[in-house]
Amino acid sequence: MHLPCCIICGEPIGGESTAWVHPECARGPGWDLTVPFAEWPNWAKALKLEEHLCRNRDQRRMEEGVEEISVSDLPLSDRVLYGEPNDDWLP
Ligand SMILES: [Zn+2]
Repeated sequence: MHLPCCIICGEPIGGESTAWVHPECARGPGWDLTVPFAEWPNWAKALKLEEHLCRNRDQRRMEEGVEEISVSDLPLSDRVLYGEPNDDWLP
């Protein structure tokens, strides 16, 4: 599960906060994220979008109760079962 993280320092925000940055990270040399999102610098918007997608994905996974499984995660025996289709049945 992806904990809500601060987009500046990458550390978990903690608690039930849905903030994007720690209060102490919102201001730094050259940035001030206490302004409205529309006025954020592009790099900060990009980081926020990335974090937003991570949070959304986890949210959806929790709601659906599904795990994403790819073939490479399967044990070899299962890979054989679901692996290459054979075309023996073709005339
Ligand atoms: Zn931080």
